[in-house]
Amino acid sequence: MRYRTYSEYLKQRYGEKVYKLPVSLPVTCPNRDGTCGYNGCVFCGEIGAGYENLPASMTVGEQLAANKAHIAPKYKAGKFIAYFQNFSNTYLPPARLGEYVMQACQEEIVGVALATRPDCLSDAHLDVLAKIRDTRGIDIFLELGLQTVNYHTLLKVNRGHTLAEFVDAVLRSKRYRLDICTHLILNLPWDGMTDAVENAKLLSALGVEQVKLHALYIVKGTVMADWFEQGTITLVSKEEYIERVIAFLEYLDPSIVVQRLIGRAPEDNTLFTNWQTGWWKIRTEIEEKMAERNTCQGRLCDYLGGRAVRRFL
Ligand code: SF4
Repeated sequence: MRYRTYSEYLKQRYGEKVYKLPVSLPVTCPNRDGTCGYNGCVFCGEIGAGYENLPASMTVGEQLAANKAHIAPKYKAGKFIAYFQNFSNTYLPPARLGEYVMQACQEEIVGVALATRPDCLSDAHLDVLAKIRDTRGIDIFLELGLQTVNYHTLLKVNRGHTLAEFVDAVLRSKRYRLDICTHLILNLPWDGMTDAVENAKLLSALGVEQVKLHALYIVKGTVMADWFEQGTITLVSKEEYIERVIAFLEYLDPSIVVQRLIGRAPEDNTLFTNWQTGWWKIRTEIEEKMAERNTCQGRLCDYLGGRAVRRFL
């Protein structure tokens, strides 16, 4: 492959295919309850990212069992990652967070992934997670929403944090040896190619372990949907998105695992999803274009470590 795929990483790490089992917790988000802001990010629907999830009224064990019963026979799967996906899953007292994660430490669960915001990770939270990893022998992955390095855009989307909180969360998570997957949207309306490239450079400089790319989708009933219908914002073409993904990969450290090149969303709840094209078709287009150009992840990742003084060494 011309980039480091998640499926290959999982096979290398666990010796076989590994599947994610979504879990919902009864959590909200500090950008919705007034702690950091109200109404959430302008693109976020009321159910957050969890349109595939079971209700949070079910216990962690019940949700894992139900999802495993569905996925295991379909894919002949034997190893899983419990994925706490919806809203901000570390927006909890540390001890309570630990209880939920412990409930996911079961046979066949090799890791726990927690989607959260950069401003929802204190040292106490990180300490709890690192201790569970060490005592229970499972991997913990923090999936951190950043969306863009462009802090002007972060203000426009009402993100409720800026770039500094992300840098802080990554640096502190590293002290606890917790792996970070960063979520990015490469086509936010105010961003350009320069931002796409800078996203890759920042993740490479910070040494995050994984990244997940999304194209912006417009969820019905959101502020972004109003702007879209009023013509206040326009979205770039699919071709431009593909160019940004390729440039992003070229500047990205080759050791960073790429979970996705484009996200998935149900079309019936959106005004715009992936240019009304299947996500796998766009992924194939990206891969074919990279092959045509004979390019790959990391081809232009030569800017770190004192580039200007290299000739003196
Ligand atoms: S931080 Fe995440 S859950 Fe919270 S409002 Fe933004 S997108 Fe939604």
